[in-house]
Amino acid sequence: MTLTIGVDVGGTKVAGGVVDERGNVLAANRRSTPAEDPAGTRDTIAEVAAELAREHPEAVSIGIGAAAWIDAAGSTVLFAPNLAWRDEPLRDYVSKQVGLPTVLENDANVAAWAEFRFGAARQADDSMVMITVGTGIGGGIVLGGKLWRGANGMAGELGHIQSVPDGHPCGCGRLGCLEQYASGNALVRFARAGARQEPERAAQLLELAGGDPLAISGRQITEAARAGDGVARDAFAQIGYWLGVAMADLAQSFDPQILVVGGGVIDAGDLLMGPTQRTYRDQLAARGRFPIAEVVAAQMGNTAGVVGAADLARRI
Ligand SMILES: [Zn+2]
Repeated sequence: MTLTIGVDVGGTKVAGGVVDERGNVLAANRRSTPAEDPAGTRDTIAEVAAELAREHPEAVSIGIGAAAWIDAAGSTVLFAPNLAWRDEPLRDYVSKQVGLPTVLENDANVAAWAEFRFGAARQADDSMVMITVGTGIGGGIVLGGKLWRGANGMAGELGHIQSVPDGHPCGCGRLGCLEQYASGNALVRFARAGARQEPERAAQLLELAGGDPLAISGRQITEAARAGDGVARDAFAQIGYWLGVAMADLAQSFDPQILVVGGGVIDAGDLLMGPTQRTYRDQLAARGRFPIAEVVAAQMGNTAGVVGAADLARRI
């Protein structure tokens, strides 16, 4: 069985793994990311991959998934919001250091690929769309059985499709992006506003936050929502609503076999997926005239980055 190495590069850690053809992780390692130091981050990635390659000399290639914009050739990091990288020729550097062919891909694309191959969309053989909800929002699109990278490597930036014309300002320069209405940050914003306006409905949430609406965190919202807190549940219903609207637009655009919601917020289960799925069905055009693709929660969890990157490396 052919083995490959996957490396998942985030703002706080670099995680590596040796992965087989079925998506099983046979060995793993991780280091802290020296995020302020581009050369140090690059070397940490190469060391994580080299260590695994020494332990498993039968591994044939390396895949790297990074929280960054990657160029069309899949060779250079153009920009990374949480890492001090600009125009970093990462792919060839790691390949040369470790002595194995290497691929480089955006982390949300990598996670989508992992779900398509081994996770929530593994029954699909042609197409899927995934929205990953973290602090911000990422996305990935698979069409014709291939990860769709677009003309410039920029496809799947689904956090920056517009939800609300002239809405909340986004870091990307637009107004009203999905990321401003359906991300982890949006969840916190909705909950804080709700707790200020209706403190009596946010009793459990405010207790967890020490009485201060500005101290409310994402984890507290999940905990309070599970315990029945009205404002915390509303906050999930709001981001679920906007996710559902976006999913309906994406279903109309791509007609995928399945749509997936990933990221830390899916830990909230039906508190998020219920409103998402209801809104999605309500928003579909010409309802009842077409088969409806399901919207489901991701299944790969924290291993998606390593497993997806390693599987893309199998396709070099
Ligand atoms: Zn934006």
